[in-house]
Amino acid sequence: MANYAADVLVIGGGIAGITAALELLDHGRDVLILDRDEETGFGGLAKESFGGLFFVNSREQQRNGIKDSPAQALRDWHSFAEFGPADRFPKLWAETYVERCIPDVYEWLRAGGIRFLPLPAWVERGETPPGNSVPRFHIVWGTGRELATRLIAALGSHPNRSRFGVKFQHRVETLVTQGGRVVGCAGAHERDGTPFEARAEHVIVASGGINGDIPRVKANWHRDWRKPPEVILNGSHKYADGKLHDAVATIGGRLSHLDNMWNYASGVHHYRPRKPLHGLSLVPAKSALWLNWRGERIFPPLVSGFDTRALVTAICAQERQYSWQLMNRRIALKELAVSGAEFNPSIRDKSWLRFARDMLLGNRWLVEEMTVNCRDFVAARSLPELVDKMNALQGDSSVDLDALTGAVRRYDAEVARGPELQADPQLRRIAELRQYRADRMRISKSQTILDERAMPLIAIREFIVSRKSLGGIATDLECRVLADGDQPIAGLYAVGEAAGFGGGGMHGLRGLEGTFLGASIFTGRMAGRGIGRAS
Ligand SMILES: Cc1cc2nc3c(=O)[nH]c(=O)nc-3n(C[C@H](O)[C@H](O)[C@H](O)COP(=O)(O)OP(=O)(O)OC[C@H]3O[C@@H](n4cnc5c(N)ncnc54)[C@H](O)[C@@H]3O)c2cc1C
Repeated sequence: MANYAADVLVIGGGIAGITAALELLDHGRDVLILDRDEETGFGGLAKESFGGLFFVNSREQQRNGIKDSPAQALRDWHSFAEFGPADRFPKLWAETYVERCIPDVYEWLRAGGIRFLPLPAWVERGETPPGNSVPRFHIVWGTGRELATRLIAALGSHPNRSRFGVKFQHRVETLVTQGGRVVGCAGAHERDGTPFEARAEHVIVASGGINGDIPRVKANWHRDWRKPPEVILNGSHKYADGKLHDAVATIGGRLSHLDNMWNYASGVHHYRPRKPLHGLSLVPAKSALWLNWRGERIFPPLVSGFDTRALVTAICAQERQYSWQLMNRRIALKELAVSGAEFNPSIRDKSWLRFARDMLLGNRWLVEEMTVNCRDFVAARSLPELVDKMNALQGDSSVDLDALTGAVRRYDAEVARGPELQADPQLRRIAELRQYRADRMRISKSQTILDERAMPLIAIREFIVSRKSLGGIATDLECRVLADGDQPIAGLYAVGEAAGFGGGGMHGLRGLEGTFLGASIFTGRMAGRGIGRAS
């Protein structure tokens, strides 16, 4: 049995745990992070993330003439979240985040050397209900990898670094209580099974969400999405299994809104999987035709950039809960993207030259990589050949050539009519999106599918990919874990995705995007600061 002691234990070395530790070191407290993963995984999901953060009234927004304010952002947040009357702390967290994200996250990151792309992206604009009324998604120059690496480096160079420790491959299983107070935790070494116990005045749970455990995702499936799809890919952390949520519940902590999840509709199998059912989340090409399992166009047409949850709902409403996207190579070159650091090397490696080349000439590297390696991609020079390949991939004859051909020809005829006479809702959406400069650069202007100069045709089979847990451990504004009746459990705190990003679900039903990293950092800082000041 190994024994450890510190002033504060942080369970989980993701971005939330790291920021809590940094704040505690600022206050001169002894901190020990325990993480189940190996050292290469230090930084958690943030390290593989795209690194987009939600800010309100940033320098980048101001420079681009985007007027924003906390009041406007909070209106958008409430519209998207659809909070219920019992959501007191989730609402308070949302309000505090929009008010404090500039000084407590944006300026703090900038002071640590983090920089953002000059033009914020406009995601989650919403439809019914409305979402982001202005662009707020600020992409870190260097992606989430830069974010995690810089914060990890800040731990190593902190003036109080002698007060900091981290133990990898330490799987925490239970919380230790004494006289009604949490005084530590216990678990075992991931590889050799050696048991350990750690003691502290305060314990912070920063172990991520539940969406890395697909059976648990299915067990908490939201009723709006009918039954869970047969195949759900895993786009979360391999250790985001909710076991620490269980440990918190065992000692009386409240879990809330576990059925609120931020999953994506366009998941494909990773071709170098690092976990079972490892899924990649594509940023769906907006000029592609989104088809159901039979090859029929889904109506109303699905277009990304408005409401991610609505896309998931539409796919889950189909008889078979997966879909196809159909495009040609020219559309793919301009519009295909994959979320995360791994598939955005020009931004991750901070190469303006490669970034500009991909914008101008199309993302040849990515299209090549995906069409050659990803098993959910098929390419062909004619529709009959493509449908044969789609059916071969699925292992049946579910895709109907006539239905698919009809859908493509009708769409192409609409495109050919020119912008003034286009009634197709997808084309109207595209025209709306292209009003914004950042979107104009990434969306084809007027592109038919059956264009000989744009061949080959590409079809992508897409599954639901699980990602963020919007619900979690209920906390108050000091990140203290709450029992029934909103009574704080002494000595116990929760931050980041484990806490539903604050309060057990600060996003309600939907996220405005960039709020996941933003709130993980924010809650980590709030917990660290609160404990540090109180001590
Ligand atoms: C590909 C990808 C792209 C993304 N892009 C964005 C984006 O652009 N913007 C955005 O806002 N969000 C994005 N996200 C989401 C965001 O990265 C996460 O929500 C956030 O990083 C969660 O941080 P966390 O510290 O709370 O949890 P995690 O990063 O999940 O860290 C939890 C840590 O706890 C450890 N742990 C788990 N269980 C135990 C245990 N029992 N004992 C000990 N340790 C344990 C894990 O090993 C892990 O290191 C993205 C996510 C992915 C996967």
